[in-house]
Amino acid sequence: CGIVGYVGPNEDDRALSVVMEGLARLEYRGYDSAGVALLTGNRAEVRKRAGKLANLSAAIETDPMLGSSAGIGHTRWATHGGPTNENAHPHLGGTDGKLALIHNGIIENFHVLGNELRADGVRLTSETDTEVVAHLLARAYDGDLTAAMRQVVARLEGAFTLLAVHADQPGVVVGARRNSPLVVGLGDGENFLGSDVAAFIGYTRQAMELAQDQIVTITPREVTVTGFDGTPAQGKVFSVDWDAAA
Ligand code: GLU
Repeated sequence: CGIVGYVGPNEDDRALSVVMEGLARLEYRGYDSAGVALLTGNRAEVRKRAGKLANLSAAIETDPMLGSSAGIGHTRWATHGGPTNENAHPHLGGTDGKLALIHNGIIENFHVLGNELRADGVRLTSETDTEVVAHLLARAYDGDLTAAMRQVVARLEGAFTLLAVHADQPGVVVGARRNSPLVVGLGDGENFLGSDVAAFIGYTRQAMELAQDQIVTITPREVTVTGFDGTPAQGKVFSVDWDAAA
């Protein structure tokens, strides 16, 4: 039920702490599981746990994550598949451990997409509607995560906020939204994504609104918005006042 994304300099634990703080600030929305993925070296490293954020923090303490320039974090309110560790997000796409995806919302046509993937030999390891999207993205990926996202959202029915990272593009987080919230936070040499401004309010007050059916690509210095059809778009920049964020 909450989403956070971060891209910035590879400084100590900044990506991890931004993402964990964002998740804590989104706790008020309610959730049953939580997880994070960080791009470390050649992989998208994932920790995820059913239950409260404290369970996730404990898992990270036991099995620490390396510093990273990009990360995504998720709190889940289960709609498809019970609140288990396996069903918690992020979900990995493909088998090389490079692509991780988080999702708020529902993918209505996941059965059809899942059957197609299974028929093609893909092994799904969760009961979620989300995991099919991770695999579709991995299969569409050809060096450009934004282009892959554009191909995949064209096949999805339902409401969704999606964020994805790929280890081959360690300075990029890609988001997409349809009938589900996603806001950009504009930093200095770093940028943020959140299901609401609370996700990044500890770091910046400059934000950018997205319209429906848009894809956003953030790097430490750039924010690029396009429609699902690839048409360039401009987000509306606004500044968050503290009262609105509280
Ligand atoms: N439908 C997805 C799931 O059950 C996402 C739920 C959510 O919005 O947190 O895993």
